[in-house]
Amino acid sequence: MAGKTQRASPVSQRNIGPCNIGHFRRALLAWYEANRRDLPWRRTRDPYSIWLSEIMLQQTRVSGVLEHYRVFLERFPNITALASASEDAVLAAWSGLGYYRRARMLHQAAREIVEHHGGRFPHSVEASRALPGIGRYTAAAIASIAFQESVAVVDGNVERVLHRLEGRALTSRQTWQRAQEFLSPSRPGDFNQAMMELGATVCLPREPRCLICPLRPWCAAQGEVARRKPAPRQQRKQIWCALEHRNGAVRLVRRSKKLSLMAGMWELPQSTDPPRGSPHDGHWRTFRHSITVTDYTVHVLRGQAHNGKVLASRGKWVAIEEIPAMPITGLTRKILKVEGII
Ligand code: SF4
Repeated sequence: MAGKTQRASPVSQRNIGPCNIGHFRRALLAWYEANRRDLPWRRTRDPYSIWLSEIMLQQTRVSGVLEHYRVFLERFPNITALASASEDAVLAAWSGLGYYRRARMLHQAAREIVEHHGGRFPHSVEASRALPGIGRYTAAAIASIAFQESVAVVDGNVERVLHRLEGRALTSRQTWQRAQEFLSPSRPGDFNQAMMELGATVCLPREPRCLICPLRPWCAAQGEVARRKPAPRQQRKQIWCALEHRNGAVRLVRRSKKLSLMAGMWELPQSTDPPRGSPHDGHWRTFRHSITVTDYTVHVLRGQAHNGKVLASRGKWVAIEEIPAMPITGLTRKILKVEGII
């Protein structure tokens, strides 16, 4: 409960032992069955679909993933289809989700699965962890949900729940160990998802909803929320984009493949320096756009008014019908959609 100051004895957490661990698991699983969000990747045991959802959900909210997940699966319905696609086609389908390195790794891993595992996602955690982009958490999530392996997962939500149950911070090793001890051996996939769901919807970072929490009888913290580090301060920047559109084509520029952010993606010509002349010349519209810790104010200039600095002569003309199959940045997609070009 938010603001509740009464602290339960840490002894309450130690009450989770061989005598009542079954009660603890049943309480969590019953709560999950009654309260879980109906999400498309929870309606399947297909390891490819679960893997895809886990990769998309890294650094992206559920609401931002849903439509991309549906479209991506339509475009690449299985590992073989993904492996045989070009990288540009994969990046195009990922466009708008950000953190494109995830898409590249997914694609590489699909190719390795076809080459070394006959196109079937490997059952063992060790084999899946050897694939690009699959770490301890993702391997355990897929193994437990798709294959019912008794391996616990720890993500940020599970970690928070476990620390609060314990009433103190745990080391990483202790956290994984506790997660494994608590795991239901008969329903590991559901149990892991229940822990994550509880952290995402009840044991919230700032205001845990302890009054409705099924784990309250075993929780040492019960609303006593550790002081959180302040969120990293957002930077603010301005950029100017040139939107040139004629004869069924748009001028686009390809980002360097050496960049750490959105490498190799296509975008409208842009600059962080304002164009010469009146700032109002050719100004069409201003957008707000956030990428990681930076909030951009994006000024879109149309026509030739931006001539004179950086923007005008760069890039190449790309036919509009080619754009949906190209890896374009989320900001460029947003601008072209608002303009009605795509
Ligand atoms: Fe509150 Fe439950 Fe989180 Fe404990 S686990 S802090 S009772 S929401």
